[in-house]
Amino acid sequence: MTTWTDHSADRPISLTAPSGIDRAAHHRLDEAWLAAAWSHPTTRVFVVSGGQVLIDETADGTTELLMTPSFEAPLTEAHRYFLGTDDDGVSYFALQKDALPGRIDQSARPAGLREAGLLLSPRDAGLMVHAVGLENWQRTHRFCSRCGERTVIAAAGHIRRCPACGAEHYPRTDPAVIMAVTDDDDRILLGRQVHWPEGRFSTLAGFVEPGESIEQSVRREVLEEVGVTVGEVEYVASQPWPFPSSLMLGFRARATSSEISVDGEEIHEARWFSRDDLGAAFESGEVMPPYGISIAARLIELWYGKPLPTRGNSA
Ligand SMILES: [Zn+2]
Repeated sequence: MTTWTDHSADRPISLTAPSGIDRAAHHRLDEAWLAAAWSHPTTRVFVVSGGQVLIDETADGTTELLMTPSFEAPLTEAHRYFLGTDDDGVSYFALQKDALPGRIDQSARPAGLREAGLLLSPRDAGLMVHAVGLENWQRTHRFCSRCGERTVIAAAGHIRRCPACGAEHYPRTDPAVIMAVTDDDDRILLGRQVHWPEGRFSTLAGFVEPGESIEQSVRREVLEEVGVTVGEVEYVASQPWPFPSSLMLGFRARATSSEISVDGEEIHEARWFSRDDLGAAFESGEVMPPYGISIAARLIELWYGKPLPTRGNSA
């Protein structure tokens, strides 16, 4: 019997691992401290633009977030996000720009989180996901939701203030549930969304609605999407998923019925797989393995009991 309590959830997905960065939120409103940190010679800065950063390969073959001292960073009026400090006292900032700098090392290249999250260290992936999440929120919250006035950035990127009505707006995170549903025969339920290509199957997922517990959300989503009822629900791990602002809450869920009836709106096709079924389907190419960065891959792998076959990162 598989044990689902995921004590090693940090291992394969750098987005869930401890990043070693102290977000040091108490400094965000301290302009003097921020100015001193910005100009300190050890401070490291990277540019985020449209969800992308520059990454670079080092001599030893690892991939890094391309960071520079602040005096080498491109000038920017505002949109400077303070992300935190590390154990050595190094401060990290992200600059939001309209475009990535077209410069620096020949080997540096732009990458989004789906690719970079697989390649970067937990520290760099953690810095990137923080910056991308802030950028997504900043870009879509330029106006006050209370009075409609244009808002201004504050707290080193973590607040937007309304100069007209005084409202403070904070970055939003939308909870979403993602679940590996299994039945009494220890088969897993995987579905194909209507817009996915043939052969792409994954765990079911959906957004938590207002006034709903996450356990209720798991049961509702599974019932709505594939008509299967769920009893026991157990939390496994979470993953920030800023596409644009989700937090994926990963569960195992035990089905109490097995007949599948897909909704046809979100899910086009769903199937129960035994481990042998899934292994054979991977081998024949009938089913594509999920993207390595996703918590879906981790949930399936926990049930599967061994690493899933890998595949490329191209979306
Ligand atoms: Zn306002």
